[in-house]
Amino acid sequence: MRTHTCGELRIEDTGKEVVLCGWVQRSRDLGGMVFVDLRDRYGITQLVFSDSIDEELYKKAKTLGREFVIKAKGTVVERTNKNLEISTGYIEIVSKSLEILSESENVPFTIEEETDGGEELRMKYRYLDLRRNVVQNNLIIRHHLAFEVRNFLNQFSFLEVETPVLIKSTPEGARDFLVPSRLNPGQFYALPQSPQTFKQLLMVGGIDKYFQIVKCFRDEDFRADRQPEFSQIDCEMSFVTKEKIYEIFESLVRHLFVRIKGFEPEKFYVMKYDDAIKYYGTDKPDTRFDMKFVELDKFAKGKGFKVFDDAELVVGIKIPGCADYSRKQLDSLTEWVKRPQIGAKGLVYVKINSDGTYKSSVDKFFSNEDIKEWADAFNAEEGDLLLILAGENKHTRKALGELRLEMGNRLELRDNKKYKCLWVEDFPLLEWDEETSRYYAMHHPFTTPLEEDIPKLDKDPGNVRANAYDLVINGVEIAGGSLRINNRELQSKMFEALGISKEEAEKQFGFLLNAFKYGVPPHGGIAFGFDRLCALFAGTDSIRDVIAFPKNNAGRDIMIDSPAAIDEKQLNDIKLKIDIKK
Ligand code: ASP
Repeated sequence: MRTHTCGELRIEDTGKEVVLCGWVQRSRDLGGMVFVDLRDRYGITQLVFSDSIDEELYKKAKTLGREFVIKAKGTVVERTNKNLEISTGYIEIVSKSLEILSESENVPFTIEEETDGGEELRMKYRYLDLRRNVVQNNLIIRHHLAFEVRNFLNQFSFLEVETPVLIKSTPEGARDFLVPSRLNPGQFYALPQSPQTFKQLLMVGGIDKYFQIVKCFRDEDFRADRQPEFSQIDCEMSFVTKEKIYEIFESLVRHLFVRIKGFEPEKFYVMKYDDAIKYYGTDKPDTRFDMKFVELDKFAKGKGFKVFDDAELVVGIKIPGCADYSRKQLDSLTEWVKRPQIGAKGLVYVKINSDGTYKSSVDKFFSNEDIKEWADAFNAEEGDLLLILAGENKHTRKALGELRLEMGNRLELRDNKKYKCLWVEDFPLLEWDEETSRYYAMHHPFTTPLEEDIPKLDKDPGNVRANAYDLVINGVEIAGGSLRINNRELQSKMFEALGISKEEAEKQFGFLLNAFKYGVPPHGGIAFGFDRLCALFAGTDSIRDVIAFPKNNAGRDIMIDSPAAIDEKQLNDIKLKIDIKK
């Protein structure tokens, strides 16, 4: 139908007879001449319809509205009024014929680089939003990433294997999405939260390097930027050490950077989970900037300042060059840490003045000498500002971690042109849950404990570390994985530590324990959050931007209006009775 795309023609093409198809982005009638910006996936080309050349055609062009789909034939000519902003801006098409292929009603928002449509509106009409360059570019990045992942892993002999989507519900992990089985009334499939057990069974099956770009489903409470369905690059390898896993997947990430961004990230660092928490208050530190935590308990307690004396932990960060913060700025930071999301009770500050003296919000309780000790602990220099929080250990670290990120934002230290990649390792194996009074696997129940910690599994399970690791880029958890248990006894012991009875373990995971009878290679793997990876490469904070048809923050697809009620007959077929009290 078309000879060229709307992004293709250049000055060298002048004189050519061409046929273009696309959407009318804009048309302007300048009296005697209609100019049309014709758009497709590849770009925008200007068409001209002139009264003096063809009166009928000119009249027809005047009827074109935004988003009409047209086909136009004409000659490429050099433009007098060139547009240097776009690659086709040197030429235009003097049209000889025009066919309207499909008309369009008024669209609910403008389909241009900058749009006037709010997010919900654009989601309702996602197919219109998809016509915008910015949105298409994100899908193009996603496509290239998927393509390069396959390319790279294929070179390393990984096999892409599909695992089932209708599987079995297990109570570990997040909540499952359930699918009733019509042929087995009262029984349900579950959608996979990840192909974890299947990829391990592939290892038992001798497929020693597996990957899959795969949809996963988790029925979790809605949180900003969570999607109930999301994609993983799921990988597993046999006969592998942790170091080998780091090596291969660092190479994969480097390959993606080179192919998609044209440069390689700096060195990948490795950090212990305990250090991440101690120095950054989070297991996914943004290491684009420093601002490490310094603990002040031994200097700050016992001087009569009750807030510090009663605190489990007194800890702070040093903000270089910010001693000139005004009262107002400090008050605003105090308000910020007191917000319920952060939950600190207050904020103590110390300014290191340019004359070497100190000004702090706790001058009443601490002498200049006392404060000098704090400043020394921070290696603080004149002009620095110290921000200090105190309270319960975990909570205070988390709050200070948030404050650190906020200061990073305010000081523009979180440069989105910079990429810092970090392996965080030796996570705790188990996590205590107050509500249900039991341990849960921090990663999943198939992760091996560190060899030297195995004896602690019985008496001190809370302090057992795991062979588990995350890949963190710029403070975002991009991937996570572990070395797996490959022996029945240890796997049973792990279920025991999780408070899962023998019978229950047999019922839920019998297939795995059974498989473990028949020769299981040592194995381990990793899964990348593919949507997050795409968002990182696309330079957006929201994974919705890199998903063709995303759900909104309440988990709804507002375009197709789902989830939705189903009719009586469907309910009868699956023998489900639903009694919803309105
Ligand atoms: N299946 C795990 C997850 O979804 C990743 C892994 O351990 O490979 O988090």
